[in-house]
Amino acid sequence: MKNIAVIGSGTMGNGIAHVFAQSGYAVSLIDISQQALDKALATIRSNLDRQIKKEIITEEVKNTTLNNINTYTSLQEGVAQAELVVEAATENTDLKLKIFRDLDSTCPPGTLLATNTSSISITKIAAVTNRPGQVIGMHFMNPVPVMKLVEVIRGYNTTDDVTAKIMDLSKKLGKVPVEVNDYPGFVANRILMPMINEAIYSLYEGVAGVEEIDTVMKLGMAHPMGPLQLADFIGLDVCLSILNVLHTGLGNPKYAPCPLLVNMVEAGHKGVKSGNGFYSWGHGTKDLIVADRFK
Ligand code: NAD
Repeated sequence: MKNIAVIGSGTMGNGIAHVFAQSGYAVSLIDISQQALDKALATIRSNLDRQIKKEIITEEVKNTTLNNINTYTSLQEGVAQAELVVEAATENTDLKLKIFRDLDSTCPPGTLLATNTSSISITKIAAVTNRPGQVIGMHFMNPVPVMKLVEVIRGYNTTDDVTAKIMDLSKKLGKVPVEVNDYPGFVANRILMPMINEAIYSLYEGVAGVEEIDTVMKLGMAHPMGPLQLADFIGLDVCLSILNVLHTGLGNPKYAPCPLLVNMVEAGHKGVKSGNGFYSWGHGTKDLIVADRFK
């Protein structure tokens, strides 16, 4: 494969475009918003500059990487040459189903279609296309240029051949792919989200405070950051929506989101992105300051 299209140029899309372009692929980065595309290119440029500062790459690699990326606001134009499309648009089922219907009718029959969804069923997305064997999950982790894992998710009909191609391609990007089957939350979020939910329950039931819970998990379990801080980084709205997928999809009450999480999201306290969550983030993300109501 030489030509890759990435749909959505937000947090994940710009990182995915960055790693493909840096590995020598021609990348078409597509978004409905020109502003999002401009922001994505600025982010990629500043991430490449950081890599130069750390002596991971040279100025030449930066220039080649940027030259490998073209941006489009038209899906049809952007995917015209693509052998693989990686969809990283907003996490919304109806939106993704529409994008995959459009991709199926636009892309040549051989094009592989991947989605970076955190929680939506690959099988469901594949079912709206006439090529369910060629639809697969390619779940990168944030920040994409740094994190090694790609969770490769086989939908019910994904073929062995397509799975092998995506596993191989992920290795060519310098990543470590892990093959998993398509069930709610896959593996990463099936394990991570109940842990975050349990941390929130521990706070809600007064077992311990924010700092205490995070310190136990950092120093006791060697986690690089505590679960409440991590939840703030992921976005509390995102955590809630993934827990709802686990709860509905697996039908087990143990996945029910903690009422405190539900209240915080309804109140607009979504973590880093809204400036407040379990911690206060108005000052940036360098210092950890517990939010006033949890002090
Ligand atoms: P984001 O909100 O940062 O970016 C989404 C982008 O998609 C926006 O720029 C938006 O303009 C664009 N978009 C919306 N509709 C579109 C369309 N029809 N065509 C083209 N572009 C469109 O979201 P994100 O955090 O980058 O998440 C993207 C996907 O990656 C989601 O499925 C999410 O679940 C998944 N994911 C996110 C993370 C994370 O940590 N943020 C981690 C793993 C997976």
